[in-house]
Amino acid sequence: MPYAELEHKAAGHSGTLADGALVFKPLSEQELAWYRAVGQPEDTANSDEEDSGDVPLWRWMPVFLGTLDEGISQGADSIAAAGQAGATLLTTGETPAELGQTPAVSPPGQPAPTTQRYLVLENLTAGFRSPNVLDVKLGSVLTDSAAPPEKQARLAEVSRSTTSGPLGFRVCGMRIAPNARALACPAEQREPQGDYLLLNKHYGRARTPADVAGAFETYFSHPRLAPARRAQLQERFFQRLQLFYNTLLDSEVRLISASLLFVFEGDPSRWDERGDDDPLLPEELDGGESDDEDEDEDEDSAAIHDAPLSRLALIDFAHSTVTPGQGYDENVLHGVESLMDVFEKMDMASLRDP
Ligand code: ADP
Ligand code: MN
Repeated sequence: MPYAELEHKAAGHSGTLADGALVFKPLSEQELAWYRAVGQPEDTANSDEEDSGDVPLWRWMPVFLGTLDEGISQGADSIAAAGQAGATLLTTGETPAELGQTPAVSPPGQPAPTTQRYLVLENLTAGFRSPNVLDVKLGSVLTDSAAPPEKQARLAEVSRSTTSGPLGFRVCGMRIAPNARALACPAEQREPQGDYLLLNKHYGRARTPADVAGAFETYFSHPRLAPARRAQLQERFFQRLQLFYNTLLDSEVRLISASLLFVFEGDPSRWDERGDDDPLLPEELDGGESDDEDEDEDEDSAAIHDAPLSRLALIDFAHSTVTPGQGYDENVLHGVESLMDVFEKMDMASLRDP
């Protein structure tokens, strides 16, 4: 695969790749099924959602572009060649049968390739000059009953011993510009990564209900952002959490082990360029209407490339399902409620003076 590992990553497994605007996540059938069911507007002409006033679930998710099937030869020498030749981008318009049957190309005389498959997703950090990311895992129940008993027991213990249990959310990790609060954490909780500092899963698991607000204060304590901008971020994300809560009330899904990903711009020059303007949700890309108007092209590309100053997104659906008729997801709703509590009580003075 000619792509590099995703750099701006707050948590999770290795193997997710990135290339500018796109992220390639190793595919699981359940996550693919989720994105096919929920990950795109049902019909651009359909205005039901606008009528209800709520933000539809898909607008909180990275845009789902399709799948990538890559032929990987077993022989190390031919990995690059097979990767180039066998990579096939399928759009979301393809049928599931076609998705499952894309042939990978193997050079003559080489062993038959195995196929690594990826989900192709919008890169949520694209357009940010200096993205600061935070991954918050939602829910106190972290597995479904289909998981192996050993895994259920292990994750029940993780839930019990962290804020997942009592609060219904847990900080999984954050990758930020170093600040005094973050640098004061115990050594095993932080990993320097170039200009960034990763506060890892040990950091997140060590939070308690009493001190977890401090994790968000640490996240927002960016050394290059003026206090007013830090406060604006805190307020913006609080508003988004309230909007997202309303979305969840309307969504009949079961999110198991999904995360809220927080991203904000740490480079003050982009704040200056945008005059501190930061939309609640990323501008909607208006695909449907502009097809017949060539002069709209410039506008469209501007919308694609001009990232906001911060963004809240829902990610990681490898264990989630759509459950029509079963009402909202209490497990996750409780977590978002707790998060809103934390944001309400956050110590704004400490954001001004870290
Ligand atoms: P895993 O199943 O390994 O937990 P996730 O989907 O949770 O994978 O992704 C792990 C990390 O990768 C997240 O914490 C986030 O920082 C980053 N990430 C995932 N999806 C995207 C995306 N679409 N755009 C940008 N970053 C992403
Ligand atoms: Mn994850």
